[in-house]
Amino acid sequence: MKRQYNPYDQMCDVLGQAAQLLEIPQSDYIPLLYPERELKVSFPVRMDDGSIRMFEGYRVQHSSARGPCKGGIRFHPQVDLDEVKALAGWMSLKCALVDIPFGGAKGAVRVDPGSVSHAELERITRSYTASVLPLIGPERDIPAPDVGSNPEMMGWIMDTFSAFRGYAAPGAVTGKPVGIGGSLGRGEATGRGVLIAARELFKKLGRQLSGTRVAVQGLGNVGGTAARLLAGEGCRIVAAADVSGGLFCADGLDAEALYAHCTEKRRFLKDFDAPGAVRCSVEDVLCADVDLLIPAALENQLTGALADRVRAPLIVEGANGPTTVEADACFARMGKYVVPDILANAGGVIVSYYEWVQNLQTLMWDEKQVNAMLEKTMCRAFDEVWRTAAGRGCSLRLAANMAALQRLVQTRKIRGIFP
Ligand code: NAD
Repeated sequence: MKRQYNPYDQMCDVLGQAAQLLEIPQSDYIPLLYPERELKVSFPVRMDDGSIRMFEGYRVQHSSARGPCKGGIRFHPQVDLDEVKALAGWMSLKCALVDIPFGGAKGAVRVDPGSVSHAELERITRSYTASVLPLIGPERDIPAPDVGSNPEMMGWIMDTFSAFRGYAAPGAVTGKPVGIGGSLGRGEATGRGVLIAARELFKKLGRQLSGTRVAVQGLGNVGGTAARLLAGEGCRIVAAADVSGGLFCADGLDAEALYAHCTEKRRFLKDFDAPGAVRCSVEDVLCADVDLLIPAALENQLTGALADRVRAPLIVEGANGPTTVEADACFARMGKYVVPDILANAGGVIVSYYEWVQNLQTLMWDEKQVNAMLEKTMCRAFDEVWRTAAGRGCSLRLAANMAALQRLVQTRKIRGIFP
């Protein structure tokens, strides 16, 4: 079935706009419109009842121009190749924007992780790892968590990869549990990056985060953590949504309790006990009367059809690709500021890079050091994007894509084209 919004086309569209503004000819960036490698795998898994079920998975390497490919693995029942291609492309752009020496990749397994047992999930994760083994490794392509996957699953990936190698290879995957080489600070890095992006935006606008009313869509690793950290800065989380629906509370929801219920225990918001709060739809949350909206669920949530009803003047994209090109144009006309995904949610891959460096050097940094380095890298990238947008009179999204594109094109020019 053809989707209404093809995320890969949307990624290429924005890249084309950035190239046009920079007057970069298509011949200079055409490799970025075509992923380097696309692998589709099918593998059998023995289910708990003894039956054999086939699963489908993907690994797409978009660009290895600037270093080993890097990107998470999504476990979702509707994921398809176009979505994985777009996510891989955004990883190339994100790594180039924050200037870390990685290319971009993404992987996925078509399954609802909540519909299989824990033991089945482990066998699916291990079989998927074995199926994509020819592509991955510490010096070629390093997976990490994404929607529907978590640190425990990264541990299974590391163990499976290491079993094939015959020795422990912690640098093969990031977002692992700390006990097997994961980095301190990685668990909350993406949410912390969202907080830093929001704080920098407010600073540039001469405003304070404290007292701000916030709506968050998605209460997983990114949204749940961002909500908790924003509440810690004095923000009021007045609206929140997950896949089960939304919740509104003018006085503010208890973000710690929300995090414990939805993020840590992975329970649904519909079962969250919130006295004084009103149940509402996901759309109501996206359109809530707030100062700051954090979409942190999936792509294509803020569409052209919804855009003129979105009331938040400031949007910080925790998710990848939550805003369609059409909605983005509408937000620009409405004078909204949108901190784009490749900047706002880069905290995860930045600390994944630190994890990989620690693994390769057999080092362990303390959390304060990791957070300080994350802060510095995020602020440097934010500043570059802000200055570019101001100088060019364009949106923050175009400015971020321009900065990333310039680095990628420059790398390609220096390396040349083989043969
Ligand atoms: P997660 O699986 O931990 O959580 C996803 C959340 O989104 C859940 O609360 C789920 O209920 C909710 N959700 C799903 N579909 C929804 C819908 N239709 N309406 C409302 N809510 C819905 O995933 P995550 O790791 O938090 O990732 C969320 C987004 O952030 C994704 O776009 C992902 O690619 C991006 N991201 C994640 C990381 C990371 O480190 N985990 C890093 C960068 C970007």
